[in-house]
Amino acid sequence: MNQLPIPFLAAPAYAHTDAWLQALQSAMPEEKIVAFAALSAAEKANCTVAIVANPEPADLRQLPQLQWVHSVWAGVERLVTDLADTGLTIVRLVDPQLATTMAEAVLTAVLYLHRDMPAYARQQQQQVWQARPYLPARQKTASLLGLGALGEAAAQRLRQNGFAVCGWSRRMKSISGIECFHGDAALTQMLGNTDLLVCLLPLTADTQGLINSALLAQLPPGAALINFGRGGIVDDSALLAALDSGHLSHAVLDVFQTEPLPDPAWQWRHPAVTVLPHCAAPTNRSTASAIVAANIRQFRRDGVLPASVDRVRGY
Ligand code: NAP
Repeated sequence: MNQLPIPFLAAPAYAHTDAWLQALQSAMPEEKIVAFAALSAAEKANCTVAIVANPEPADLRQLPQLQWVHSVWAGVERLVTDLADTGLTIVRLVDPQLATTMAEAVLTAVLYLHRDMPAYARQQQQQVWQARPYLPARQKTASLLGLGALGEAAAQRLRQNGFAVCGWSRRMKSISGIECFHGDAALTQMLGNTDLLVCLLPLTADTQGLINSALLAQLPPGAALINFGRGGIVDDSALLAALDSGHLSHAVLDVFQTEPLPDPAWQWRHPAVTVLPHCAAPTNRSTASAIVAANIRQFRRDGVLPASVDRVRGY
């Protein structure tokens, strides 16, 4: 048993601290995992690693020897901002189970749009009995913005389900069966041939507001958007204009600039929007805890830190 406990830090109102403490403790019985509030002054002075879920930056500043934090979430834009003035290494969650869950969510949303479910829901309200024209999946192109841990798994799942699939990343990629694009000029080329655009980008200085009127205008008329990345990547007024004009047929939105989505938000009531409550890919506490445990074990054993967030790139 390592004598120095590892603190778990979360936002004050976070409802699942006890569940995380239990899951993390059973994944690493050789460690003592405690809530931040349970640390003694001496433990605060000496601890080198912490596990975090949207922590209060002021709490982390009370740990002078801290070298790195392991987030239990995949998205780290808040940590990158909150810890900008520290030298702390940020490790985010990369979990194959999370990728599988996200791929399932992307496939669900793509099939929902591909098979015209929003239109059938509208027809039902008006008691209209009318089959709509059908195109096979192979004649539809689904394009991923972001081909990382989640984007690549989603791309492959869509490919397995018969769609033509493209993907866009910062650096060049080669993925069997997926037409890969990178860089600004290539994005234009990909968008022009896209029926279903799926955003799985991280929120960074470069991606903030990326899905704006200029980008949406490059999609063919009638294309649809699925945003499972972060709300800040979409320019909401550009999205509203594209939906109102009919250029964009529908948007499935799981993430928003303000969450929970406030009551006056137009997205709640727009007929061409499906609102989801940030539920596309919830972290699985059990598999995530096993991954955090393996990373901490390696650090204890030979001082090696897992792959970490690049502070300059922002992800
Ligand atoms: P990741 O492995 O870091 O992948 C990010 C991808 O985006 C990479 O392919 C990266 O390109 C690309 N990218 C980043 N900046 C770019 C830019 N400026 N131009 C072009 N491509 C860019 O992240 P991930 O694990 O797949 O997660 C993606 C995001 O999903 C997270 O950041 C989080 O916000 C979101 N998420 C949402 C949910 C939900 O429930 N809705 C759950 C989990 C995560 P390179 O490959 O070239 O680096």
